[in-house]
Amino acid sequence: MSDVLSAPLVVEFPFTRSLGPVQSAFLTGLRERTVLGVRTDDGTVLVPPVEYDPVTANELGDLVEVAPTGTVTTWAWNPSPRRDQPLDTPFAWVLVRLDGAGTALLHVLDAPGPDAVRTGMRVRIRWAATRTGAITDIACFEPYEGEPGPTEPAPHSGEFTDPVTGIVAPACLDYVHTPGRAQSAYIKALEERRTVGERCPACRKVYVPPRGACPTCGVATAEQVEVGPRGTVTTFCIVNIKAKNLDIEVPYVYAHIALDGADLALHGRIAGIPYDQVRMGLRVEPVWSEGARHVDHYRPTGEPDADYDTYKELV
Ligand SMILES: [Zn+2]
Repeated sequence: MSDVLSAPLVVEFPFTRSLGPVQSAFLTGLRERTVLGVRTDDGTVLVPPVEYDPVTANELGDLVEVAPTGTVTTWAWNPSPRRDQPLDTPFAWVLVRLDGAGTALLHVLDAPGPDAVRTGMRVRIRWAATRTGAITDIACFEPYEGEPGPTEPAPHSGEFTDPVTGIVAPACLDYVHTPGRAQSAYIKALEERRTVGERCPACRKVYVPPRGACPTCGVATAEQVEVGPRGTVTTFCIVNIKAKNLDIEVPYVYAHIALDGADLALHGRIAGIPYDQVRMGLRVEPVWSEGARHVDHYRPTGEPDADYDTYKELV
């Protein structure tokens, strides 16, 4: 399996969302050291609160304040915290039912080790020194031996000055990606500026990029077939919105291109021709990126357009 590639891959983006009235009150409340829940039609207090009853789907707005103390209902020990987790020392993920709440809140518990954590233990909120209206305004939970809070939560208007109305939640997935045998061969061929697909032994179709199996017949593919480099535009769109971090002037054309010998169209940018002259059937060839093993764009070859019948199965 040594010819199978793998590489670290990081997918990272900020997720911006508006909060709506209930989540806005909840997060603004945390900023003010106040934990709010919402009462459902059957009287259950949900913490964190939601805008609609998960059982009846009725709109909810009956906010109440619950205690900053509660009980661990279940937990899992995290021996090796990762970047941007709430604590940078080993901790327990916990579900905590705050006093007065009917449901449990997911957060972390600062504890010296798993032996110090148990279901049913009493905990309280440790507030962050700087609070902005986010779930991280609760720095963590900590063990607590004092009196429990009131079991009957107090009504709350949910109104605060300068409420938080939106949040930016950073999302990051970092992992080791392995493309598998077939795509490893495909990527290695790209290094030599060749495009290699695989032919299905049953239906004889050539897949580019290869996935290692035929999606129609369900059988493994192994026979490697070099395709292209020229191909035919089977369909296309004109892009008018400039993407961040992409140094391409709009409008430009993005197309499905059936490389000669391939039974699956791949996509790429078309350049070297005014965007409004790109058409189905246009014959194109790749222009490779300098110093990189991928095609930068495709440009017209000057050949006559392909006959529709030659690519209609690939549109
Ligand atoms: Zn097949």
